[in-house]
Amino acid sequence: SGSYSADSNKPFHGKVGRVPVGIGRRRMRIVVTGGAGFVGSHLVDKLIGRGDEVIVIDNFFTGRKENVVHLFGNPRFELIRHDVVEPILLEVDQIYHLACPASPVHYKYNPVKTIKTNVMGTLNMLGLAKRVGARFLLTSTSEVYGDPLQHPQKETYWGNVNPIGERSCYDEGKRTAETLTMDYHRGAGVEVRIARIFNTYGPRMCLDDGRVVSNFVAQAIRKQPMTVYGDGKQTRSFQYVSDLVDGLVALMEGEHVGPFNLGNPGEFTMLELAEVVKETIDPSATIEYKPNTADDPHMRKPDISKAKELLNWEPKISLREGLPLMVSDFRNRILNEDEGKGA
Ligand code: NAD
Ligand code: UDP
Ligand code: UDP
Repeated sequence: SGSYSADSNKPFHGKVGRVPVGIGRRRMRIVVTGGAGFVGSHLVDKLIGRGDEVIVIDNFFTGRKENVVHLFGNPRFELIRHDVVEPILLEVDQIYHLACPASPVHYKYNPVKTIKTNVMGTLNMLGLAKRVGARFLLTSTSEVYGDPLQHPQKETYWGNVNPIGERSCYDEGKRTAETLTMDYHRGAGVEVRIARIFNTYGPRMCLDDGRVVSNFVAQAIRKQPMTVYGDGKQTRSFQYVSDLVDGLVALMEGEHVGPFNLGNPGEFTMLELAEVVKETIDPSATIEYKPNTADDPHMRKPDISKAKELLNWEPKISLREGLPLMVSDFRNRILNEDEGKGA
C-alpha cells in the first residue's frame, strides 16, 4: 500500500492490528539482540529495508553505534542500550537473539559474563517470547560440534566438546542456549528456530576482533605479516555475511524449528586463506607463525543439505568474491584510524 510513513506513529496492536506492508504481509515489530554488532547490523538493514519495525537491544560490548548510525532518524528504528542478562518488557512479533560476543578473543575476555549472556540472556528472551507470543530465533554456532570427529558436520552430530576448557564458556553456553530454546518450545509452546552459524566474515567486523579473516585482512592492509596460528593446516569454511542474513530470515519465516547449519561448504586451511588474502590485497604480503590456542578445532565444514532442502537456501558468494567486498570497508576504516593518529 506504500503508506507506512503515515502510520508509523500508531501504537502496536499485536498480531491483528498490524500495518500492511505491500500486498499480503503485515508490518512486524522485530527485536534484534546484538543488533549493533557485525551480523546483527546487516540483519537489521535487511529487516528495515523490507518495511518492518526494528528494535535493537545491545550493551555495546563488541557492537558499535557506527554500525547502525545510518538508521538514526528512521521512525521504524529504535536502539536500546541494555544488557540481555537483565529482564526487559517489550511487545513484539519476532525476536532474533544474537547478543553474545563471537570472537574467541572477546568471549574468553570475561568467560563468566559469556555464560551469563548465553544462559540468562537467552532465558530472558525466551521468557519475553512466551509472554507476548513472539517467534524466537537463536543464533547458535558450529562450535557446538567442538573439535568434530565427523566431517563434514551434520545437524544430527552431537559434537566433541571439552566442558572444562577455555572455549567452554562459549561452546557450552550455546549448547545450553539450544537446550533452553527446545525446552521453551516443548514445555511452553514457544515458536522457536535454531541456526548453527559457521565462520562468517564481511564489512563492519571489528578491525581488531581477533578472528582469522579480520586479522589477516587488517594485517595485509597495514603491511604487517599475517599471523598463522599453529601449522596453519587446520580448516574452516567461510561464509559471506549477506548469505547468512538471507539464511536467518528464511529460517525465521519458514516452518521448521531446526537446528540448521548455516555456512558455506567451501573449506580452506589457514595457509590457503592467507594465500587468498595475499592475492586479493597485496602480492608481497608475508606470514608469521604463532603458537595456536587451546582446544582449537582441527577442521570444520558444514553439511548444508538440510537447509537446502527445507529452507531452499544456500550461500551464493564464494570467498574470492566476498573478500574484496570486505577489504574496501577495512581499507576505509584503517585509513580513518591513521588520519586520527595524525599519520
Ligand atoms: P559481534 O560480537 O559483532 O556481535 C555481538 C553483539 O552482541 C555485539 O553488538 C555486542 O555488543 C552484543 N552483546 C554481547 N553481549 C551482550 C549482552 N549481554 N547484552 C546485550 N548485547 C550484548 O558478533 P557477530 O559475529 O555479529 O555474532 C552475532 C551472533 O552470531 C552471536 O550470537 C554469535 O555467537 C553468532 N555466531 C557468529 C559467527 C560468526 O562467524 N560471525 C559464527 C557462529 C555464531
Ligand atoms: N522475562 C523478560 N521479559 C518478559 C518476560 C519474561 O525479561 O517479557 C524474563 C523473566 O524476568 C524471567 C525469564 O524471562 O527471568 C523467564 O521468564 P518465564 O516467565 O519463562 O519464567 P519465570 O519468570 O516464571 O521464571
Ligand atoms: N587463526 C589464525 N590466525 C589468527 C587468528 C586465528 O591462524 O590471527 C586461526 C585459529 O587458530 C583457528 C582459525 O584461525 O584455527 C579460526 O579462528 P577464529 O578465531 O577466526 O574462529 P574460530 O573458528 O576458532 O571460532
